[in-house]
Amino acid sequence: ERTDFITYFHHIIDRFEMNIPERITLQRELPKERLYVLIDQDKITQVLDNIISNAIKYSPEGGKITLKVIRQKYQILVAIEDQGMGIAYDKLDKIFERFYRADKARTRKFGGTGLGLAISKELVEAHHGRIWAKSKEGKGTMILFTLPLIGKKRRVTR
Ligand code: ATP
Ligand code: MG
Repeated sequence: ERTDFITYFHHIIDRFEMNIPERITLQRELPKERLYVLIDQDKITQVLDNIISNAIKYSPEGGKITLKVIRQKYQILVAIEDQGMGIAYDKLDKIFERFYRADKARTRKFGGTGLGLAISKELVEAHHGRIWAKSKEGKGTMILFTLPLIGKKRRVTR
């Protein structure tokens, strides 16, 4: 459905704020204007839940998670950045594959199936968006995705 992504994203973050571990802080960097996208809210909620849960799961004590939306010409760019252990450069693309877990020790320590990001990728692409990751080992991870803005009707001028 037609959704103001900013209001919707605030609600999602509010829900996380209510039961976040005390050692983590969430920081919002969201524009004030409304930005309309055409989304299945349940599905994009699943995407955000997974990305934010990962960020929390892999954050250190006192870690900050920054949640950003940047308006671009025809799309919005959503970025969730943490200060966790990061992901090795050669594994950055693999985390979107089914059942991929970055390393065995991490798997034992944190649990999970390795499906979250693979499902997120399918859902974002079904919305005509893209999803990718940037990371520096030991510094943190940023997961980014795009969603097309609903186009305004073009005014004809002559
Ligand atoms: P599930 O989401 O199914 O419970 P999962 O979280 O392990 O399991 P994904 O969400 O698909 O699976 O993530 C895949 C792998 O990518 C993770 O196992 C982890 O190794 C790595 N990863 C994902 N997000 C982060 C992050 N923010 N920081 C460090 N590593 C991450
Ligand atoms: Mg996950």
